Order: sequence, then C-alpha cells, then structure tokens
Amino acid sequence: MNNQFQHDVASVWENCLQVIKANVSEQSFKTWFEPIVPFRLAGKTLTIQVPSQFFYEWLEENYIHVLRRALDYAIGRDGQLEYSIIIDTGGDRQPPIKVHVPTTNSPEAAEARQKAAADPKKQTPHPPKGPDTSELDLFLNSNYSFDNYIEGDCNRLARSAGMAVAQRPGVTSFNPLLIYGGVGLGKTHLVQAIGNHIKGHYHDKFVVYVSSEKFTNQFINAIKSNTLQDFTDFYVKVDALILDDVQFLSGKEKTQDTFFHIFNHLHQSGKQIIMTSDRRPSELQGLQDRLLSRFKWGLTADLQQPDLETRIAIIQRKLQAEGIYIDAGVIEYVAHSVNTNVRELEGVIISLMAQASLVRRDIDLELAKNVLKNIVSAEEKEVTIDTIQEVVADYYDITIADLKSKSRKKELVYPRQVAMFFAKELTDLSLKSIGYHFGGRDHSTVIHAIQTISDLMEQQDAVKEAIQKIRSNFA
Ligand code: ADP
Ligand code: MG
Repeated sequence: MNNQFQHDVASVWENCLQVIKANVSEQSFKTWFEPIVPFRLAGKTLTIQVPSQFFYEWLEENYIHVLRRALDYAIGRDGQLEYSIIIDTGGDRQPPIKVHVPTTNSPEAAEARQKAAADPKKQTPHPPKGPDTSELDLFLNSNYSFDNYIEGDCNRLARSAGMAVAQRPGVTSFNPLLIYGGVGLGKTHLVQAIGNHIKGHYHDKFVVYVSSEKFTNQFINAIKSNTLQDFTDFYVKVDALILDDVQFLSGKEKTQDTFFHIFNHLHQSGKQIIMTSDRRPSELQGLQDRLLSRFKWGLTADLQQPDLETRIAIIQRKLQAEGIYIDAGVIEYVAHSVNTNVRELEGVIISLMAQASLVRRDIDLELAKNVLKNIVSAEEKEVTIDTIQEVVADYYDITIADLKSKSRKKELVYPRQVAMFFAKELTDLSLKSIGYHFGGRDHSTVIHAIQTISDLMEQQDAVKEAIQKIRSNFA
C-alpha cells in the first residue's frame, strides 16, 4: 500500500480520514476527527495534533481500532501514530502543555499483547514464589480510590492519566506513568487508587504496590539469602507494578540494575509500570541515565499544591466522610490558611475534630483559629497571619478589627497596608487569601498595598526604619 500515495502529511491524513469516515458515525467524525490537525510525517510515523488530553484519551479509548485501520491503509502495517497534545491547563498561570505520545497501537505493543493472550500462563497469573504476596496486598490500601481523590487544577493531568491507565493497564501509551510532586500532594493516594481500580476491574491481574524502600530491602535480603532469582521471577510476573517514591533508589546502583532489568521485561510484555517521585525526573540525581531515559517512554505528570477551590472541596469531602457539619465560613478560613499540602490540611481537620470532641463544642471560627495557631507554630516557626495582624496593630496602636474594617481613614489604611506587606513577605499565602484575611478585600487591593509600602520604603527612610523595627518582632 505504501507507494500508492504521496507521502506528504496532508495527503496521508486525508487518506486516513477516508477510512475513518467510512467507519464512524457522522456526528463522531465531526466531533473527534475534524478537529485533528495532521502535524508531521516522519518516516512511517504520523503525528497528529489534538486539542486536549481528554481528546487524546477519548481517541485511544474509543477509536484506536479505526485509527489502526486507517494507518494500515494510508501508510501500511508498520505505520505508527503519534499525538501532539495541546493541553489547556485551565489556569492562566501556565501556558498550555504540549506532549508527544506514541500510540499504544505500535506493532511491537500489539505483538506483545498477542503473545500474552496466547500464553495461558500469562492470562491467569499465579503469584509465583518470592516476596510474600499477602504482605504485598496489604500495601494496597482500599481507602485510596479515585472516588475520594478530589480533582482540581493542581492534579487534573495526573489524575486523568492515572484513570486512563487504571482502565486499560499496559495498553495506553502512558507506560510507564510517572507521577511527581512534593510531599503530601497525593502521589501515594493516586497510584494506590490506580492499583485498586485495576484490582477491582481485572480480577486476573496481579497488581503489586511497593515502596522503593521496601523494594530495596527485599532486594538486599534476596542477595543475603541467595534468592535473587526468586525475587526477579516474582516481579517479572506482575501485571501492574506500582513503585512509590523512586527517588529512594538514588545511588543504589545494584537495586537500580535489577529494577532496570525488571522494568524492561515488564514493558516489553505490555505490563503496566507506575512510579512516583518527589521531584521531576531531570532532578533525580543518583539515578542511572538508562533508567531515566526509560521513564520518558511514557507520561510524566506532576501534582501541584492544591488551589483554593480544591482545598475547600477536600475539606468538605473529609468532613462529609466523617459525618461532621462545619459552617462554610470556617471551611473557608481553614482553606485560606493552610495551603502547603493536602496532608497538612487533613492534619488540621483531624485536630479540629479532635478538639471539638474534647471540649464538646461545635467547630466554630474561634476554635479553628486556635487549632491553626497551635499547629502552625508547633510545626515550623512560620509566622501566621494572626501574629502579623497582632504585631502590626500593636505597633500602630490600633485594633485587629481596625485592620480588617472597611474604614478608609488614613491612620488605618497605612497600617493595613503594612500588615498586608508582611503577610506577603512572611507567609506563603496567595494574594487572594491575604485579601480574605483583611476583611475580604480582593487581590488587587493587596497588590496595591504591597507596592505602596515598597515604594514608600525606597522614598522615605522613616518608613524603612519602621518596617525593619516591625520585622524584628517576627524574628
Ligand atoms: P504523597 O504520597 O504525595 O506524599 P499522599 O498520597 O500520602 O501524598 O497524600 C497525603 C494525604 O492527602 C492522604 O491522606 C491523601 O488521601 C490526601 N490527598 C491528597 N490529595 C488528595 C486529593 N486530591 N483528594 C483527596 N485527598 C487527597
Ligand atoms: Mg507518598
């Protein structure tokens, strides 16, 4: 079929469309194929540009066979498809992301699948001897699910990629799937949810969740007890391997060698590999290049600090699960005050519930403030917004209520601006949250305040000195 057509990208895509049109409904064609832009033809690999992550997944989920047929016709059996995805990240904070992903339907992947299907042993894998499987199962915690994994701008890509992998393990091009993000941002929860989903939907699949630390220890024990072969045999029979916190393998050369071997074996047999890391792959020092380069075969997605809306949704969800009602104002206050990570947010909620039950009272704003004060000052000596307001009010001999009031009196406006200035400097609250703590002002007011104080400090020594004096109270 190859030579029949001119091999420029537009005509190849045109030929694909002919096949597709004959195979899908008109509505589907309009919705899913017309928006596609043929992007590049390199050898036998056709790259098409799709408008979103979701779009890509939808194509892979629903039209992969049609696409394969179209490629067969337009390029030949060895034709390959690659996507270039323009991901709208939803926020204006980040530009759209472009990801290039090969399709799952490459001949090698298809072959591996066929082989696996033809091999009865592989269809119903029995956990072989090796590390104790019941013990491994214990590490799949059924409390972690997609249902209770709140979606937000901070995790959308990672969550949807995770979902795609959970639904079709080993078959999507997200292999390996690497999720990275700081501590407490939900990596373990997400990959556990993937594992649970696979286990729940594919009863014959052998899913293993293991932390990199545990993996390393198992490896060391296997060497000591001369059972390295059993160790490797065990892992190469897994259908979905979840390795949490791969950064832990840093500098552990021997463990990496073995993992490399296992990785290759699994990948070649179309098995799913899912990993997490606390930093992006390019910052994973101490990991072998050959491993890192394999991580790039699949998809790397990050988790970011939860945005305000996500924080609110997480708090609500948690309270709902506990059957506790809290006033929306208190939820908002907590969401505006804890913005580091989800684990900390959960810690605050748990303390709140504990306090409320101890002192037998409802969770109100006052209780929330007390709890937050204790937690924040105990954990790290970060200055709280309350402290800033107290110190500044004290310095200018006004009240905290004055700082939060709507009054435009000059003798209140200035201290208020000073307090906002310190809130920006000393906490990591967003402008929006700072505004919230000053009587519900919007972020532009906060920007203006910060700008005003910065300008004044440059222009007037007296202001500069005053600011330094106040600052010394926080040290
Ligand atoms: P990490 O592994 O990245 O350090 P975890 O997965 O342990 O973080 O998450 C910390 C806590 O926050 C867990 O209790 C988890 O259930 C919760 N969590 C994280 N992200 C979410 C989310 N999007 N929705 C609900 N709970 C979350
Ligand atoms: Mg974790």
